[in-house]
Amino acid sequence: MIKTHDAPIMVTRSFLPPLEEYVEMLRPIWNSAWLTNMGDYHEELKQQLKTYMKAENLELFVNGHMALELLLQAMELEGEVITTPFTFASTTHAIVRNGLTPVFCDINDKDYTIDAEQIESLITERTCAILPVHVYGNLCDVDRIDDIAKKHNLKVIYDAAHAFGETLDGVGAGSFGDASMFSFHATKVFHSIEGGAVTYRDPALTDRLYQLKNFGITGYESVEYVGANGKMNEFQAAMGLCNLRYMEQVIEKRKKLTERYRERLSGVPGIRLCEENLRVGYNYAYMPVVFDGYGADRDQIFDALKERNIFARKYFYPCVNSYQCYRDQFDINATPVAERIASQVLTLPLYADLEMSVVDEVCDVILDRRNA
Ligand SMILES: *Cc1c(COP(=O)(O)O)cnc(C)c1O
Repeated sequence: MIKTHDAPIMVTRSFLPPLEEYVEMLRPIWNSAWLTNMGDYHEELKQQLKTYMKAENLELFVNGHMALELLLQAMELEGEVITTPFTFASTTHAIVRNGLTPVFCDINDKDYTIDAEQIESLITERTCAILPVHVYGNLCDVDRIDDIAKKHNLKVIYDAAHAFGETLDGVGAGSFGDASMFSFHATKVFHSIEGGAVTYRDPALTDRLYQLKNFGITGYESVEYVGANGKMNEFQAAMGLCNLRYMEQVIEKRKKLTERYRERLSGVPGIRLCEENLRVGYNYAYMPVVFDGYGADRDQIFDALKERNIFARKYFYPCVNSYQCYRDQFDINATPVAERIASQVLTLPLYADLEMSVVDEVCDVILDRRNA
């Protein structure tokens, strides 16, 4: 009954616009011979994204990681940054590469974002900022985090790599805290091959972000900052402009697939799905499932799918504070919920062109192991 696939089904598959549309976009680049360094497409994508993302201020970058690294530099932070270990390498690396010290806060058990109730216990006189992650597109408790930040005079920067196009009560996801980083990597809901953006509150950051992504150059003969090369090129911006036209369709398709997964897997003893927040306009970026006291454990489900040439992903696993490069620097027992969820979670295949029959097959494989 259950078939195997000739080509592997991966956890995600990059969306691509019709080839002719992208090729058509390349003509003006050939005509102008302007390939990078803030060209016309760069400006156009920036304007269109501001509208789409309901963001007041936005700057584009070559990728999400550079966006975050240069944002932290632009904010001139010093000391400790409270963040979570249940994230992608980028979040913590950006902190450390800026000479800042990450302080790991645990996540909550409901949507795997930072446990806001634990933040205050980690604040010291060296704390300068909070850097939470909107994990899987689940928006953090932004109101509570805002209160804490105001009370202690801290900056708030969101890793919003998973939250493209989302809203909370109709407000763009990039409007919370002082700034947010978005990733437009090929595997994300919206992409520009590689790419990223920073949305931010303080217009004084505009020049600084622009300069830092361009080597810290501030004038024809002046370089005021030790910047980097974080510029998005015209080929990336053209891909972004093409893809943006399809975003509504892409998200609608992801929504349908997600609904099927939820329909088939919710209420099954030992399987936990994220709670939905009715205030959030979701982008359906990921389909995480937690196996907690289920017939088979996470790794067994992963292997069972793999036998059918279907590759779910242990995401995020391992937690950042147990990476080799950070080993012995942090007490992983201080973040037990993150540790546990990392060992129990699997994100299931989800992308716009995924066949509904594969969703059903994945669910069949999982439900077959109810009493394994
Ligand atoms: C993808 C991702 C990033 C980094 O984005 P890139 O565009 O790949 O550099 C950072 N944080 C999280 C949580 C991500 O998923």
